[in-house]
Amino acid sequence: MSRPAKIFIDLAAVEANYKYAQILAPNSNAIAVVKADAYGHGAVEVAKKLASSAELFAVSCLEEALVLRQAGIEQSILLLEGCFSQDEIPLAVTQNCQLVVHTQQQIDELLNADISQPVSVWLKVDTGMHRLGIQPDEAAQASLTLKASKNVKAVLLMSHFSSADNLASDGVSKQLDVFENCVSTIKEIGIQKSMANSAGILAWPNSHKNWNRPGIMLYGLSPFSEYQPQASQLQAAMSFESEIIAMRDVSAGESVGYGDTWVANRPSVVATVAVGYGDGYPRTAKLGTPVLVNKQRVPLAGRVSMDMISIDVTGLQNVNIGDKVELWGKNLGANEVAFWADTIGYELVTRMPTRAKRLFI
Ligand SMILES: *Cc1c(COP(=O)(O)O)cnc(C)c1O
Repeated sequence: MSRPAKIFIDLAAVEANYKYAQILAPNSNAIAVVKADAYGHGAVEVAKKLASSAELFAVSCLEEALVLRQAGIEQSILLLEGCFSQDEIPLAVTQNCQLVVHTQQQIDELLNADISQPVSVWLKVDTGMHRLGIQPDEAAQASLTLKASKNVKAVLLMSHFSSADNLASDGVSKQLDVFENCVSTIKEIGIQKSMANSAGILAWPNSHKNWNRPGIMLYGLSPFSEYQPQASQLQAAMSFESEIIAMRDVSAGESVGYGDTWVANRPSVVATVAVGYGDGYPRTAKLGTPVLVNKQRVPLAGRVSMDMISIDVTGLQNVNIGDKVELWGKNLGANEVAFWADTIGYELVTRMPTRAKRLFI
């Protein structure tokens, strides 16, 4: 008695992917990135599943960290953009968060904060992404200033890649050079470092530092648009499924759906599936986007509605009302659907609305 559009989350797959991130980088420690509700997979459930293996979680803001605390997660939590204002710092510290600092203003606010215990600080350096981070030639002074503060327990150095998902890019090695040059200016011996996201972990072994930051790979999605051998071993955690709720014959020349964008070029059988953009299926999915019915691929026929899609099941044997449909998951990658919808798998899984019920298996 419920809407058939459902999201199944395989937590064992998340755990296997986390262990795989550790195996790929045996000399690094893997921070489990569970920001944005674990990329739409449920941050509380994912963090509970990983609590026995991950030493540190990462989220984008204090609010996301507090959700994990309220659920009983005890690990330290890294705030990837740090605090957004000075008044957040005391709560972040009492809640056992670690802070990224990426501007001089954040550094000053931390130095001036009234906190009862010192905090671990991840000094972010801009090595080429040009989004967050202080300039590499400012890092040595900043780390000295931070180290000298009673508010600071430890200083770690981090940066982020702009194009590690592009296997042909020379940007990764350029950024690594800038990063290591920056490290060499810092007097402190053995300062802990972090560079690699999922793409770095999977494809760029020389980006593995003390701490890696796997995000999308935990959920079984490849960060690459092309085949990559390490990424091909990931296990998809999210299955987005629904059911056929109507079937009809459509004569050649008749159209299906809003705007008449699909026209039958032969006598056709069209099935209506109870899933639409209101459930997180992208409206930008083009005609022909693959959908799985009883494990067979069929094309999307007509525009995606809020609550429904239509698929062309002409010639398919044994298709009936009530049959299961996979929109993406273990047998059809979210990245492939994303390609047909002019986006990336990251966006599809992360922006799932609450209407589609999430079930943990
Ligand atoms: C989101 C994020 C990550 C994880 O990136 P993936 O490509 O999902 O692995 C790593 N580091 C930072 C700073 C991030 O914001």
